[in-house]
Amino acid sequence: MNKVVRPNRRMLLSGALVGTVAALAGCSSTEEPSAANSASPEAPPTTPEAALERLLEGNQRWVKGEPQNPNRDPARRQALAQEQKPFAAVLSCIDSRVPPELIFDVGLGDLFATRTGAEVVSPVVTGSVEYGPLANGTPLIVVLGHQRCGAIKAAHAALSDGETLPGNLAEIVTALQPAYEQAAAAGGDDPVDAMVRAQAELTANDLRSNPDLAPLVAEQELAIVSAYYSLDTGAVEVLSGALS
Ligand SMILES: [Zn+2]
Repeated sequence: MNKVVRPNRRMLLSGALVGTVAALAGCSSTEEPSAANSASPEAPPTTPEAALERLLEGNQRWVKGEPQNPNRDPARRQALAQEQKPFAAVLSCIDSRVPPELIFDVGLGDLFATRTGAEVVSPVVTGSVEYGPLANGTPLIVVLGHQRCGAIKAAHAALSDGETLPGNLAEIVTALQPAYEQAAAAGGDDPVDAMVRAQAELTANDLRSNPDLAPLVAEQELAIVSAYYSLDTGAVEVLSGALS
């Protein structure tokens, strides 16, 4: 009797299912979009280092008030109609002041963007973050916290006072408990800001130890970076995880 082999997730993604998964991203087309290159003169980065450099260069333009607003014209839209190849995945907050395409000065087809309150994850959210690296070869994940995060501030107040927030907001508070405890242990005069940074770093750490992502990180095919965005200056500060 043949032994039944139960394939793990990486085997599935590298095997028969990869076509199905790729099709979800529009990667299954055999036709090259005619405007693919003309609309994007800069080739997308393919390494973690180059991907982070591209994002930080864009952020510098944003900080200076000199954005190029790349890849946002109808030609780019047309070029991407059949396929996409984003060079980074960004997990960031829902905050209206932190839209990833703007603050990194990129455009259509450049990012897989996942946004939740205080970049809190659940299995469904983690699946969305995994999608780029596992199915599309995305070389970089950025977990981006931000200054004066309302979700962090509310969670900090709730955890400090022992209050329960209404509805499913309580779930966000529960998910932020480790960041709260790390910030409390560290001390300092701005516990909410410390909690913001802790949340980004802890979330990035968790993703790095994810059994599906960890091998890619070990092989330096993927970097998982935590970062902090300043509402005051527009600058993104890398906290951890960058490959040197
Ligand atoms: Zn926020």
